Amino acid sequence: PAKTMDELVSLCKRRGFIFQGSEIYGGMQGAYDYGPLGIELKNNLKAAWWRSMVYERDDVEGLDAAIIQNKHVYKYSGHEDTFTDPMVDCHECKSRMRADHMKDIKVCDNCGSTNVTPPRDFNLMFKTNVGPMVNEESYTYLRPETAQGIFTNFKNVVDSTSRTLPFGIAQIGKSFRNEITPRNFIFRVREFEQMELEFFCKPGEDEKWHEFWVNARKQWWLDQGLTEENIQFEYVTGDDLAHYSKSTVDILYKFPHGFEELEGVANRTDYDLGSHTKAQEEFGLSAKVKKNEHSTAKLAIRDLDENKWEVPFCIEPSAGLDRGLLAVMTEAYTEEELPNGTSRTVLKFKPHLAPIKVAIMPLKKNKPEIVELAKELKNKLQKLGLGRILYENTGNVGKGYRRHDEVGTPICVTVDFDSIEKEGAPVTVRDRDTMEQIVVNAADLPAYVINYFIN
Ligand code: ATP
Repeated sequence: PAKTMDELVSLCKRRGFIFQGSEIYGGMQGAYDYGPLGIELKNNLKAAWWRSMVYERDDVEGLDAAIIQNKHVYKYSGHEDTFTDPMVDCHECKSRMRADHMKDIKVCDNCGSTNVTPPRDFNLMFKTNVGPMVNEESYTYLRPETAQGIFTNFKNVVDSTSRTLPFGIAQIGKSFRNEITPRNFIFRVREFEQMELEFFCKPGEDEKWHEFWVNARKQWWLDQGLTEENIQFEYVTGDDLAHYSKSTVDILYKFPHGFEELEGVANRTDYDLGSHTKAQEEFGLSAKVKKNEHSTAKLAIRDLDENKWEVPFCIEPSAGLDRGLLAVMTEAYTEEELPNGTSRTVLKFKPHLAPIKVAIMPLKKNKPEIVELAKELKNKLQKLGLGRILYENTGNVGKGYRRHDEVGTPICVTVDFDSIEKEGAPVTVRDRDTMEQIVVNAADLPAYVINYFIN
């Protein structure tokens, strides 16, 4: 794995994974842009999550709710009142910092001065105005988590799918938090993506499902290539436990800057649906909620055994996509000494995550038959639907191998004179991890590639 953030940052920029946002204007703190390879990696990680959370289960539905929502969503979700971090200002150097991240909240982390304010609450939501009138009424917020769109659509999804408990709703999308101190590359940023599942179950079955999801989510991260030794659970207790949560387990990963939260798995009880439902008094809610005077829908489900309406409990595995990508990159990053005394940098991504699946390289860039066969193979492999297949005509295979090691391409295929002269059109297939080369006939290449990526 990578030892420092700097080596990742530099590789990400050099090879086109991630760039500083608004770089040509001096940058924008806490915002990053994903380049040609970053977007592929991100899409692959999202697809893996969706596959596992939606397609491979028969009790989860997908959703893509709007980022801009009615301000009442945040009034009743509790975000308007409580989505804050404690902040401290330094009178000397004028820097601001998040109190719970400071070594000592009476001493400035930046200049060491003791001339600092007591901590005060800072709301992390970005406020904005909607429509042409800018007044007291026209404001709302950019969503600070995707989850609320799931709760507000609970009735729509139940009515349109006839779901009964237990079942879940999954969503991937952008969230925004005006973090006091964004830091550690894409670990803590102001605009990021989340992959969230809200899994609804009967009260009384919540603890069982909570445990199930903690373990299922850890297994999923292992399937993305993270290793057991770099993952830890943290059982959140006391003051750190969100007010709506009965229990939370954070899944931590060993990032270059230390073990930190990658995903939180919370038992949110009936707090969220109970907060957004109308007729709250009918349901005997277990959570303490603000009285809702605006909701037009009952967010409850019929318990067929007892023939009554009840507000389900909810288990929420909430993962950061950007943090996930950083974890996957950290783990994949490998510096290897080779037997010939040189070294190489390899990103040992799991094949399904690799931004480029196969690179096809003609050995001679100006030999028409070679070029033609290489292009034909590219088109054939591209049609398999595995992801990006790159035809790369630089005429320097050695350099190509090095570059593709560094961006984690699992397979390189070279087309050479043998390919156009010998029967069966043999091409050379080189494996990223073992660096072994084997010869495969052109006609057998699609089957070889499918077998490599699907099994
Ligand atoms: P932290 O304590 O690190 O601020 P949190 O506990 O507030 O995080 P949650 O509200 O549980 O985070 O959000 C769920 C997930 O969303 C986190 O586990 C993380 O992966 C991701 N996430 C949250 N805030 C950010 C951020 N500012 N930048 C990138 N990812 C984030």
